[in-house]
Amino acid sequence: MIHDFHYLRPDSLQEAMTMLSEYGDRSKILCGGQSLLIVMRQGMVAPEYVIDIKHLNELNYIRFDEKKGLAIGATTTHRAIEKSDVIKRRYPVIADMENRLASIQTRNWGTIGGNLAHADPAGDPAPVLIVLGAEITLASLKGERTMLLEEFFVDYFTTQLNEDEIIKEINVPVLPPRSGCAYQKFNLLRNDMGIVGVAVKVTLNEAGVCTDAKICLGNAGRVPIRARKAEGAVIGQKYDEKLFAEAGKIASEECEPVSDIHASEEFRRHLVSVLTRRMLVAAWKAI
Ligand SMILES: Cc1cc2nc3c(=O)[nH]c(=O)nc-3n(C[C@H](O)[C@H](O)[C@H](O)COP(=O)(O)OP(=O)(O)OC[C@H]3O[C@@H](n4cnc5c(N)ncnc54)[C@H](O)[C@@H]3O)c2cc1C
Repeated sequence: MIHDFHYLRPDSLQEAMTMLSEYGDRSKILCGGQSLLIVMRQGMVAPEYVIDIKHLNELNYIRFDEKKGLAIGATTTHRAIEKSDVIKRRYPVIADMENRLASIQTRNWGTIGGNLAHADPAGDPAPVLIVLGAEITLASLKGERTMLLEEFFVDYFTTQLNEDEIIKEINVPVLPPRSGCAYQKFNLLRNDMGIVGVAVKVTLNEAGVCTDAKICLGNAGRVPIRARKAEGAVIGQKYDEKLFAEAGKIASEECEPVSDIHASEEFRRHLVSVLTRRMLVAAWKAI
């Protein structure tokens, strides 16, 4: 049962930040409520004040600039991202990932800001945005700060967000020429949370040599994990499926998966190995 709380509905980002600074750890932001209401019902959080920002249109946008790249406001829904023409054209891996995230009903209401703030290690957007080099901007009455998304996650369901801060925007840089990306999660039911997910981005030079590789593993540890040794194995190399299988093995040794009711640690490592190999092939072929 959800305990009683005061429902607050700010009219602007400024007003939301003022409420956060006043109520601090006694409050929680509510956006789509797809995750917050579950943890409130389970009694895991019991805020005195719930600050509803879902209707704040000043945080609901998708913008693209040829130099600055993509900017997504925090209250933008998963469905809007999935359906965005500019995202489909410039970052198809984001649109594909969103298309496999939950049901249409959940995507229609859940938001990118809520997903990242919730920091479920099985969340789909984080690994994809991390390999794309995304940054996240947090705002409070004291000002704004921007960090790489991969630095935002601290532990299970824990981020760098301070009590008075709100996620404002996510930025994704323009992809360098000859770059390819791929993401796949392994799950038993389509659009369910991933037992493991792997995102890969590779950039090649004109001779087909990999000049940059980013591999991010979802639900293979407490936070999304960069498989840096596996990345190192493919940088400087050309397309080579044996090498990709080796990189998969390396990635499976770099992660820290747990055993739970969904899968054993051993099976998760196996999935990381297989998906990393497959996503390296897919990212290369996407160029
Ligand atoms: C049935 C179901 C299936 C799902 N399947 C998937 C899946 O396959 N993959 C996946 O990745 N996710 C999945 N989810 C999770 C869902 O996508 C996200 O958790 C959801 O989008 C969270 O967004 P929200 O707007 O509903 O956030 P809320 O539930 O409103 O908030 C979640 C948390 O974020 C905080 N918060 C929200 N917005 C902000 C902000 N702007 N700044 C700071 N803090 C903020 C809240 O205080 C709360 O702690 C599923 C959820 C459901 C219910």
